[in-house]
Amino acid sequence: MNEQISFIVEMQNIDLELLKYEDFLKNALCEIEDLRNILKSKESELEKLKEDLMELNKKIAGSDLDIKTYEDKIIKMKDAQKLIKTNKEYNAIQKSIKDNEALKKKSEDELLLCMENKESVAGKIVLVQKVIEELASAMSLKNLEYKTKEEECNSIKKDFLAKREAAKNKIKKDYLYVYEAIKIRKGFPAITPVMQSGACTGCYRMLPPQQFNELISESVFMQCPVCSRIIYIDTTLPESSPAEGKISKKSNKTKI
Ligand SMILES: [Zn+2]
Repeated sequence: MNEQISFIVEMQNIDLELLKYEDFLKNALCEIEDLRNILKSKESELEKLKEDLMELNKKIAGSDLDIKTYEDKIIKMKDAQKLIKTNKEYNAIQKSIKDNEALKKKSEDELLLCMENKESVAGKIVLVQKVIEELASAMSLKNLEYKTKEEECNSIKKDFLAKREAAKNKIKKDYLYVYEAIKIRKGFPAITPVMQSGACTGCYRMLPPQQFNELISESVFMQCPVCSRIIYIDTTLPESSPAEGKISKKSNKTKI
């Protein structure tokens, strides 16, 4: 392999390693962010449940008071009933007692329903609180893990950056510029081998035979005429049928 090409391949391998660590840290941060979002939504759910519980407690207190009021009224009316002399008055007070008993029954039913709801809401609160505790503990563990991994990665990245600097100094400026430009525009790979059949492994199009022959000589710096990636011959790659790709026409090369 041409020396300049081997330096660019080395540079790409270093860049890929660096990217691996950056992606790893990015993913770890995303996981923490996801946990934080779930935790936030659970905290909102807990707040809502607590509000529901307060509301139910108010209703229960209200129903209790209503029941007590109806009971007092009924007792008073029953006492008054004893002193009544006419049937008309008796019937009227009897109706009032029945009405108050019905209202008391309604309040008792409401109280019962509120008590049942309160039990269910209180149960949910316990569950959500447990989930929040678990999430908070998982998050603090992830944060701790992240900090440790970040330190590890930064130390490894430092080594790779030093290696990158060394590789960079060996590459001709023009080639480095091309490599960096393709990397930004296309992502990886910016430099890619051509198979023995003449197919670029970046876009799988066939190189024109003359261009392919020039590439075999390893004396040209060449970019794929289709995908613009820097190309080189890698004899370790398997052959593929020339029919798999179409022959491209333009050429983009310089002597190296
Ligand atoms: Zn290509």
